[in-house]
Amino acid sequence: MILYPKLYLNNVKEINISILNKYNLKGLILDVDNTLIDYNKNLLEDLESWAEDLKSQGIKLCILSNTNNKQKVEKVANILDIPYIYFAQKPLKNGFNKAKEILKLQPNEIGVVGDQILTDVIGANKSNMFPILVKPIDKKDIFITKIKRPIEQVIINKYLKKIEKNK
Ligand SMILES: [Mg+2]
Repeated sequence: MILYPKLYLNNVKEINISILNKYNLKGLILDVDNTLIDYNKNLLEDLESWAEDLKSQGIKLCILSNTNNKQKVEKVANILDIPYIYFAQKPLKNGFNKAKEILKLQPNEIGVVGDQILTDVIGANKSNMFPILVKPIDKKDIFITKIKRPIEQVIINKYLKKIEKNK
C-alpha cells in the first residue's frame, strides 16, 4: 500500500541501530520540517548525539527537504554534519534518486524518515525505499501542510487499525 509506512514512531530519535539492523537498513533519508526541527526552526533536543551515534556505527544520513529555504536546511545539515538536498519536490522520485546516489546504497537499504504521508511516505514507497513515519514535532504547520493533515490522519487511523488486526 503506497500510503502506508513500514514503521510509525513518535520521533526520529526512536530510530536506533537495532531497529536499523532488524530491517537491514544502512542509511536514512531525513525530512527537515517537523521531523528534525519545529515550526520555529529549533532542532530536536539531543539530535546531534543521535546522528553522531548512528554515523559512528556506519549508518549514512542525508537530508531531503521540500523547502526552498536553502539556508534553513544547510544550517541543520551543518550541525549534524551530513549532506543535504533542498527543494526536493517530494513525492517525486528525482530527489530520492539523488539522495540514493549520495548515500551509495540500494533503495531497499534506505529508510526514509518524515512526518508526512503525502510527501515522505508516498515518495519512499514509489522509490522502493523503507518509509518510517514520525509524529510531527509541532502542532503548528505551514499553510499547505495544514490542509493535508486531516487527510493524513484518516490514512494513519486506517493504517493503525490494520497493524492492530495483524498483531
Ligand atoms: Mg516535514
